[in-house]
Amino acid sequence: MHYDYILVRYGEIALKGKNRYRFEDRLVQNIRNVLKDLPQAKVTKTFGRIYVELNGSPYEIVIERLKKVFGLISFSPVKKTGLELEQIKTTALEVIEQLKPIPKTFKVETKRPYKLFPLNSPEVTNEVGGHLLRNIQGLKVDVHHPDTTVMVEIREEGVFIYSEVIKGIGGMPAGTSGKGIALLSGGIDSPVSSWYAMKRGLLVEGIHFHTYPLTTEESIQKVIDLAQALSYFSGQFKVHMVPFLEIQKEIKTYAPESHNITMMRRFFFRIAERLAERRGALSLITGESLGQVASQTLESMYAINQVVHTPIIRPLITMDKLDIIEVAQKIGTYEASIRPFEDCCSLFVPRNPATKPSIKIAEKAESYMDIDQLVEDALANTRVITVTPHSKIKAKDLLFTDIKVFTK
Ligand code: ATP
Ligand code: MG
Repeated sequence: MHYDYILVRYGEIALKGKNRYRFEDRLVQNIRNVLKDLPQAKVTKTFGRIYVELNGSPYEIVIERLKKVFGLISFSPVKKTGLELEQIKTTALEVIEQLKPIPKTFKVETKRPYKLFPLNSPEVTNEVGGHLLRNIQGLKVDVHHPDTTVMVEIREEGVFIYSEVIKGIGGMPAGTSGKGIALLSGGIDSPVSSWYAMKRGLLVEGIHFHTYPLTTEESIQKVIDLAQALSYFSGQFKVHMVPFLEIQKEIKTYAPESHNITMMRRFFFRIAERLAERRGALSLITGESLGQVASQTLESMYAINQVVHTPIIRPLITMDKLDIIEVAQKIGTYEASIRPFEDCCSLFVPRNPATKPSIKIAEKAESYMDIDQLVEDALANTRVITVTPHSKIKAKDLLFTDIKVFTK
C-alpha cells in the first residue's frame, strides 16, 4: 500500500499561547531528527497540524520511528488523491481494505475546507459510504460506535483520506522541560528511569561511574548499548564516563565497610551535581526504587541526599521490580541490562551494607579525604561519548587506559 503522508496528533489541549509553539517546534525538530536518514521524508506544520510528507520513503519505517517520539498521542497514514468523486471513492476503499482486522462497522466523516468542491460534506459522506457498503461484504454503518471512521478531508490541493489510528507513546517532546543528568548504571532500573524522565520532556545526559580496568570492557559496553537503546527516543544520548577507582580506594581506606555504598553514592551525587552545573542541568535522575536494596531505604536516601541541593528525580521510586522489567522490555533496554557483567557498584557491595547508615560515620570518613580534589580529578578525567541509533562505539576504543588517575 502506498501512503503519501503521516498525520501526527499531539496533546494540544493542555497547551496555550507561547508554550504551544515551543512544544510544536520542538516536536517538529525531534521528528526530523529521528527521520534524518530518510531524506525524502519532509516534516511540515501545515493547517495547524504536523504532517510527515513521505515522498516515497517506506511508511512502515517512518511509523516505527514515530512510535518512539515523545509528545505524540497518535498518528495516521494518509492517502492523497485528486478532487474527483470517483478518485475519492476508490481511495477510501483502498484505505479501509488496508485495516487489519477488516472492520465490521464504519462511518465516514467529511471535512470540506475547500468550499468550491461541488458536493457538500453530507453528500460526499453518502457517496463514499455507499461505495464502501457496495464493495465490502458484511460491512455496516454505525455512526455511534464504529470500528473505524474513514476521514475525508477536501482541500484545494487534494483530498486527504485516512482511517487507521496508531497510538503514540505520549509524554512531552524531549527538551521542552529542561535538562537532567541521569545516573546510568548497567542495571535494569536506571535506563528505565532515564526513559521516564525523557518522556516528561527532559533532555537527559547520562553519567556512568566505572572502575576500569577493574570493571571490564564488557560492562562499559553495556552502558554504551543502553545509551544506544535510549537514543532511539531522542536522536542521540550523551554519556559522561567517570573514572571512580581512586575514590573507591579512598573509601575503602577510610570508611567502615558497612558504609561503603553510602559513601560511594554520596560521591556519585556530588560529581553528578558538579557535572549538572557545567551542563546547565537542573536535576539529577536515578533508578532508585523504595526498599529494593539496602541503599534504597529512606534512611539511606536521606543520608545520601545530604550532599547535594539539586532536585533528584526518582521516576521509579514507587514501582515494583516486575513492572520496571516490563517497561525495560517494552523500551528495548532489558536485553543489554541483564548481560552478566558487573559494574563498579556490584564489585564493591559489602557483605552487610547498613540499611540505616549514619551520616556521622560518613562525615567522619570524609573528613580524612580531600573531597573537592577527588571530585575535580574524577571530572577532569571524564570522557563524554555521544551515542546515536546508528553509531558503533566500542568500549575498547575509548582508551580509558590513558586516564592519569590509573597510572598514579
Ligand atoms: P540499577 O538497576 O539502575 O543498576 P540497582 O537496583 O542496581 O539499580 P543501586 O545499585 O542501588 O540499584 O543503584 C541505584 C541507582 O544509582 C541506579 O539506579 C543508578 O541511577 C545509580 N547508579 C548505580 N550504579 C551506578 C554507576 N556505576 N554509575 C552511575 N550510576 C549508578
Ligand atoms: Mg545496579
